[in-house]
Parts: sequence; structure tokens; C-alpha cells
Amino acid sequence: MKKLIFLSAIISLIALQSWSQNVNNMQLSHMKKPSVRKEIQLPDIPGYKTLKCDFHMHTIFSDGIVWPATRVREAWEEGLDAISITDHIEHRPHREYVKGNHNSPYEIALPVAEQKDIILIRGGEITRDMPPGHLNGLFLEDVNALDTPDPEDAVRAAINQGGFVLWNHPGWKAQQPDTCVWMDMHQDWYEKGYIHGIEVFNEKEWYPIVIDWCLDKELAMIGNSDIHDVNAHYYDVENGHRPMTLVFATERTQQAIKEAMFDRRTIAWFDDKMAGPEELLKAFFEASVEIRNTGHKDKNQKVFRIKNVADMPFYLSYESGQQFTIPALAEVYLTLPDDAKSAGVTNMFTGTNKTLSINLTDL
Ligand SMILES: [Zn+2]
Ligand SMILES: [Zn+2]
Repeated sequence: MKKLIFLSAIISLIALQSWSQNVNNMQLSHMKKPSVRKEIQLPDIPGYKTLKCDFHMHTIFSDGIVWPATRVREAWEEGLDAISITDHIEHRPHREYVKGNHNSPYEIALPVAEQKDIILIRGGEITRDMPPGHLNGLFLEDVNALDTPDPEDAVRAAINQGGFVLWNHPGWKAQQPDTCVWMDMHQDWYEKGYIHGIEVFNEKEWYPIVIDWCLDKELAMIGNSDIHDVNAHYYDVENGHRPMTLVFATERTQQAIKEAMFDRRTIAWFDDKMAGPEELLKAFFEASVEIRNTGHKDKNQKVFRIKNVADMPFYLSYESGQQFTIPALAEVYLTLPDDAKSAGVTNMFTGTNKTLSINLTDL
């Protein structure tokens, strides 16, 4: 009996001790949502890496609602390679509460970007009435130099730093209620070499006419989020992806991204669509989709086995008007009439009214 009392006393002592160790602070770490990077599966193309980039976003340093470091964490979790925080230079509604200058968002975000291996590009948004409208200066050394009364001085300050100048949302209804218009000022700046790319897509709208503008004028086609909100509150990033620019770079560095953009090796990727130069879309389609003739026939039709390694569906349309979907990250069988010569990939835009065409005769 004595033994039993002694034993139970020891047990209660141990229980008391273990309880007393935790009573001040007990961690329930499993309640915290882990920070996980989603890998976007998009293949490289011959000679180039496919980098996922967003060159237009805002923080509380202009009219966004998040702290700059949050933009880096979002980008990392969503599988991006590079971002540029491009706060408005002339529009800072939180100025009363937020000190700092136009370089501050970059400087605050940089340590987190380095830690997470996100390429952070210093940028800013020149924010003027139309014309010229809004333009992002990217790959800048000093964003403060763009804070000038005359818009042309601002764009020249970006050019003097070796910057890439991007014309943002040319068809934004607040500035262009009916249409996208290439105005005299844009022509003048273009001739002076002040414009290097245009947003084909911005936030949730796109401007098909800009594809032909970019092709005619040899400018880069860009797609950006222009996110002001928490990104995951605005886009369904679990089932989809934010709009972005795919940059085909020789390596995963800021310098290689810059070279690729000046060389117009870009595709705008938004929703389930891509817009870009034909040769890049073709290279991307061929890197994504493997089509094998099985040698079998089904009612006089050739049977193909199709594998898609890209996180992007492809919608095919034949001369006959027949439609077929190659789902993202999947394998499917497809039958084709013996005389089928080509198919259009209706979600890959190579022109304002033109989609990629693939040859079926060699299959
Ligand atoms: Zn803007
Ligand atoms: Zn913006």
C-alpha cells in the first residue's frame, strides 16, 4: 500500500512537472499555414530557360495595400522567378503614413528576395494622364530620378539608366474609354527609342490589338498583374495562376532577363491564353506537346498519343471545324482523318486576329 502511494506521488510529481514546463507557453505549430512554393510546370525551349515574371505591382508605397516584402513571399509561393515592384511615382495616397522614397520598396524587399532566390528588379511607374499614360521603368538604378515634372524627362531618366520602358494598360478604360490609341506622343517616344514593350494584358483585361502593334514595331509583348490587393485575395492562385510574362533567357539571372526583354523573347501568359511572337509560341508548343502516331487506325482515322508536360491546356481546331482539347499535364489519345493537314491552337495568339497553326502532315 505504501509502495502504491509512493508510486502515485511520483506520477503526479512528473505530471505536475511536465505541466509546469508548458504552462506559460504551449506551441501549436500545426495551426500555422506552412509557406510552400507551388511549382509551375512550363518547359524550357531550345537554348533558353522559361522564366516566370511579373513586372508590375504595387505596395503601400503607392496605392497598394501590402508591405513590399509580402510581394516577394507571394511570388515565391506562386512559383515565380522574377518580379518588379513598380509603385506609382506621382500617386502616393498613403504618403502621410508611409515615409521613404521611390527606392524604398525595392530596398525593403531585397533581403527577402535574396533569401528566397527571387530575382528582384528595381522599377517604378510613371503615372501621367493620356498621353503618355502610365509607363514602367524597369532595371533602374535610382527610381527617384524619374520624379520630374515633365513626363519626357522622367522617361529619359529611365533610358539614361539603361532601363527597359514598358507602356502599361494602353486600353485602360479610365484613360481610353473606347479603344487603344497610338498617339503622336507615343510615336515620337517610339522613334526616340523610349518604348521597349507594351502590356498586352493587365490585371484582368487584354488588348488583342497590341499584339499587332508589338509585331509591327518590334516591341516586347508583356502580361502583368498590376496587383494592388493581396494577390491570393484577387486571383485564384490555387487552381490557376496570376497573369505574367514568360521570359526566355539564357540563364536565370537579372542580366539575362534584361537581355531577353530587349531582344523581345517574351510571351504574355494570362488565364488559359498566351500571346507572343509566332516562333516563340511554336517553340513552346513543341516543347510542351509530344505527338506520337501509334500506327493504329480507328475507322480509317490515324490514332495519335499526345502528352502535354505544360501546366497549360491547348485547344485545337481543325479545318473541318472539329475541336479538341489537350488538357494541362496530361496524356490523351486523338484520332485524325488521314487528310488532316493542319490545326489551329486557338488559345495561342500570334497576331490580333491570328492563332498558331501546327502542321499535321508529317505525323
Ligand atoms: Zn497604371
Ligand atoms: Zn500600376
